[in-house]
Amino acid sequence: MRSLWLEEALAGAEDAPRLEGEERADVCIVGGGFTGLWTAIRLKEHDPALDVVLVEADVCGGGASGRNGGFVLSWWAKFGTLKKVCGADEAVRLALASVEAVDGIGAFCREHGVDAHYRRDGWLWAATSRAQLGAWDETLETVEQYGHSPFARLDAGEMARRAGSDTHLGGVFEPTAATVQPARLARGLRRVAMAAGVRVFEHSPMTKLDRSRPPRVVTTQGSVRATKIVLALNAWAAALRELRRALVVIASDVVATAPVPDQLAAIGWSNGSCISDSRMLVNYYRTTLDGRVVFGKGGGKLAFGGRIGSSFDGATPRGDEVAASMRSLYPSLRDVPVTNAWMGPIDRTEVGLPFFSRLGGRDDVLFGVGYSGNGVGPSFLGGRMLASLALELDDEWSQAGLVREPVGSFPPEPVRYLGGVLVRRAVERKEAAEDAGRRAGRATLLLAGFAPAGLVPLKKPAAT
Ligand SMILES: Cc1cc2nc3c(=O)[nH]c(=O)nc-3n(C[C@H](O)[C@H](O)[C@H](O)COP(=O)(O)OP(=O)(O)OC[C@H]3O[C@@H](n4cnc5c(N)ncnc54)[C@H](O)[C@@H]3O)c2cc1C
Repeated sequence: MRSLWLEEALAGAEDAPRLEGEERADVCIVGGGFTGLWTAIRLKEHDPALDVVLVEADVCGGGASGRNGGFVLSWWAKFGTLKKVCGADEAVRLALASVEAVDGIGAFCREHGVDAHYRRDGWLWAATSRAQLGAWDETLETVEQYGHSPFARLDAGEMARRAGSDTHLGGVFEPTAATVQPARLARGLRRVAMAAGVRVFEHSPMTKLDRSRPPRVVTTQGSVRATKIVLALNAWAAALRELRRALVVIASDVVATAPVPDQLAAIGWSNGSCISDSRMLVNYYRTTLDGRVVFGKGGGKLAFGGRIGSSFDGATPRGDEVAASMRSLYPSLRDVPVTNAWMGPIDRTEVGLPFFSRLGGRDDVLFGVGYSGNGVGPSFLGGRMLASLALELDDEWSQAGLVREPVGSFPPEPVRYLGGVLVRRAVERKEAAEDAGRRAGRATLLLAGFAPAGLVPLKKPAAT
């Protein structure tokens, strides 16, 4: 079973051919999600004569790009970490660029006639328990120190009004965010890339990265030798030995309801705004153009050794849990049926930011990974960074502060998996206690504190 998004976007579409035989190219991109496709388009914009091949294991958009919540967010909520990783000036530049990316995606859709249901109605960063109130304070203060105020504070009444439920106790609003039907965007990017001359091969998984010179991508039925290879593999990159310790792969799980436009209109929540709360096992939700609620929850199953396999595809085993979270936040929608449920892998880095660099220090094999659940907007910038690296340009993108090796590393297996399971359970206990208006025990808080960065910075527990 595909995501609701991809099923809709693929209806009647023809797959690209499989790669068969030996090919040569200037650039071979591996992975046909947002990162790979934006990189391909950027390369062709720079030099239409460049021979660009893209190989995708499934269909373009079959990975996270066709399964996500469709939140198009900036990096302002990550400003504190961006500043630590890149320094203040570069953090401001990248945060501003990430806002331009949100607009850039809308402009791309308009220019190329991509009907991705782009709606720029903002993001509500909410508290859905008292313990979450003020989770945003430190970020807002830090951002304001640098003269920017991308967020507006909302009191409980205003937050509840905009979210359509008084389970929202307060929060902030970032007006520059958008939502999209993400698979429509991915398939639109594929169309534009192919029209620009990118040679796309679907159902052609890379089975081996031949680290020869020049390097070669080997697929089930063919191979591509290329001057440059760009690995745009998202969580699947955790299988590469060079990146194994940089990523934890964890599922995010999503349900969609039947269309209920009248009920959404009645609660005053039917525009394109997106909402997430301030927990580690984050709840994220939005409405669709045809009046459904799409509701996701982070922090699902972990992949042992970064191996994903088919257990991250198809229907989520957490569907009932995710639906229960939706109903507890929207009691008025408790009788609305859930019609679709799916899941996908998240490429979490320790600091919650992506990195774009040279695999094993080689100039001819590049990678971009680690969006950590915020990749729809930022992959627009990732494509610029990877294209500039592939073209060996000396510009603001090849020199960007996130063009570096991933910061931080996770322990080796089996410690990472077993530790991850323990930490995840502790986070679950901590957040259940907070939902019930209690404070979790010290041991639970201590263990939960080992969780890597989430979608948004979390409030630190007050000292006892
Ligand atoms: C359920 C879910 C909800 C999310 N919600 C949001 C959200 O609302 N907002 C947001 O900003 N981000 C969200 N994200 C994250 C976002 O989807 C990703 O950061 C973004 O799609 C990354 O794009 P990508 O191109 O790097 O990865 P992908 O789209 O995953 O592309 C990687 C591609 O590589 C292919 N591939 C894998 N192995 C091979 C191989 N061996 N050979 C060839 N191809 C291969 C895969 O099939 C896949 O198509 C969510 C993710 C998930 C899973």
